[in-house]
Amino acid sequence: MSNKKNSEPDFDAIAIGAGFAGLGLIHYLREAGLSIRVFDKASDVGGTWTWNRYPGAATDSEGYYYCLSFSKELLQDWTWSQRYPGWEETLRYMHFVADRCDMWPHIQLNTEIASAAFDAAAGIWTVTSSGGEAWTCKYFISAMGMISEPNMPKLQGMNDFAGPCFHSSRWPQEGLDYAGKRVGIIGAGATAVQMLPVMAETAASVTLFQRTPNYVLPAVQKPMTPEWEKEIKDNYDEILNKCRHHVFGMAFDSPVGRTVADTPPEEVQRVFEEHWPRGSFRFCFETFDDLLADADSNEAAAEFIRSKIREKVNDPDTAELLTPRGYPLFAKRPPLDHGFYEAFNRDNVKLVDIKHREPIVAVTPTGLKTTEQDYDFDIIVLATGFKAYTGALEAIEIRNSQGATLSGKWQETSASIMGVCAAGFPNLFIITGPQAPFANLPTSIEQNIKWIADCVRKMEQEEFDVFTPQQAAEDAWAAHTEEIHAQTLMAEGYKVNSWMMGANIEDKKPRVLIYFGGADVYYDKLRESVDAGFPELEFSKVAGA
Ligand code: NAP
Repeated sequence: MSNKKNSEPDFDAIAIGAGFAGLGLIHYLREAGLSIRVFDKASDVGGTWTWNRYPGAATDSEGYYYCLSFSKELLQDWTWSQRYPGWEETLRYMHFVADRCDMWPHIQLNTEIASAAFDAAAGIWTVTSSGGEAWTCKYFISAMGMISEPNMPKLQGMNDFAGPCFHSSRWPQEGLDYAGKRVGIIGAGATAVQMLPVMAETAASVTLFQRTPNYVLPAVQKPMTPEWEKEIKDNYDEILNKCRHHVFGMAFDSPVGRTVADTPPEEVQRVFEEHWPRGSFRFCFETFDDLLADADSNEAAAEFIRSKIREKVNDPDTAELLTPRGYPLFAKRPPLDHGFYEAFNRDNVKLVDIKHREPIVAVTPTGLKTTEQDYDFDIIVLATGFKAYTGALEAIEIRNSQGATLSGKWQETSASIMGVCAAGFPNLFIITGPQAPFANLPTSIEQNIKWIADCVRKMEQEEFDVFTPQQAAEDAWAAHTEEIHAQTLMAEGYKVNSWMMGANIEDKKPRVLIYFGGADVYYDKLRESVDAGFPELEFSKVAGA
């Protein structure tokens, strides 16, 4: 369909990242008549699920809506084995999608893209691999995910450790035998929370080096029964509709029309108790509607969670160290628990407070040295998080015609237009870029791709060569996003190094990275943009076209 009249790029679209976004793009852009090549430096499709192969890695969204929705047939034909599928199962699902939709011819694995440069005169991007191979395209698309670029700690002696020492998202692809080994984990976020209880089952010992405790919510894993599966499959349209209209893109029954502020305290406790054993982020969304907006209401939920930690952890000192204080629930993204707290009741699990008691001084050949003592390990896992939203894009040299880079643009702020494109960078699309919402990712990814597919349809039908994201539109979106952000309790994330504000990155200032106006509202705004003919973009033809 592409109007290849002036120059003939190798592909209409090139995308980086063969996860949910890459697979979704293949479907929707192929449907729009474009040729597309998806590159990934990994050796498999799967995106985050091919990198994060750590023990216990599983979805935190319930699997039946953590999936692509474009084919009713695929939704009916795939069967999840449990509520939160593990990484192996999610990878199998992605293979199922790629196989069934004949996507493999569009995917090139083991290919790291190092740079991309736009030629405004031709309206063409040249995309170059780290091996020096180059391809051209009209549309260049980041499908790299918003939590994919590792945030490595800057510790003295990082290369001195004799055993395996690696970031959690770079888990050895061939697996790692940790049975009977002494394992040190640095970091106490969602990754460590999933990993620790599983590793503790067979490792000789697991020692967690924690800086900031989290509000960890129960996941409550359950097998998928035939009855539950039938109920889901009979109601898939309704489930997906719920995701599309939920503030976090989840198939939750909220808002519930009830606030902590308007509920008697005993009833508040009863509702919390009733919902706690149900598991998932539902605790934040299906109990009361004001938990993320009202400080007192949030504190009621926070205090309830603290009481549950005391119930679960036998040793009072350990329980206290694991107890989050001084910041609201959701100022850091709450992890989901598959036995995390209970694991500290095992003899082979130890917690080290590296914030107040004994900061890490160095990595040594045999383990870790804190201000108090030396710890010997066979394996060290750096579960230290990610350079969220912009990190993966900044790791690639992405240049516009004036020679400016995207990483240069995002030094002080991380402004974008709805997270899907950035002023100064024509013909570049971003899927779940900065200042998009943080939501159930497949929901957001598909909404972004639909906007992109509609945009390229317009470009091709009206024979445009270039779309130029408008600075005024970006300024307006950034201001709107910042204004909303300031009204939420998530704005306190800077106090506790929250990646949701980029506050976990040592050499950058915290910033507004996420649109918290509601994923549902955001999806509406994407649709309004399509209906209005993309007023955020200027469309043009190159000379001689
Ligand atoms: P994270 O939540 O950012 O946690 C990183 C941890 O490392 C924090 O405890 C942090 O301490 C610590 N840390 C960072 N730098 C350190 C340093 N230099 N020295 C000592 N400690 C350091 O990262 P994550 O656990 O990988 O999770 C990131 C996000 O990925 C999650 O919030 C979630 O959105 C996503 N994720 C999703 C799933 C899922 O859905 N199944 C699973 C895992 C992760 P401070 O808190 O003090 O900074």
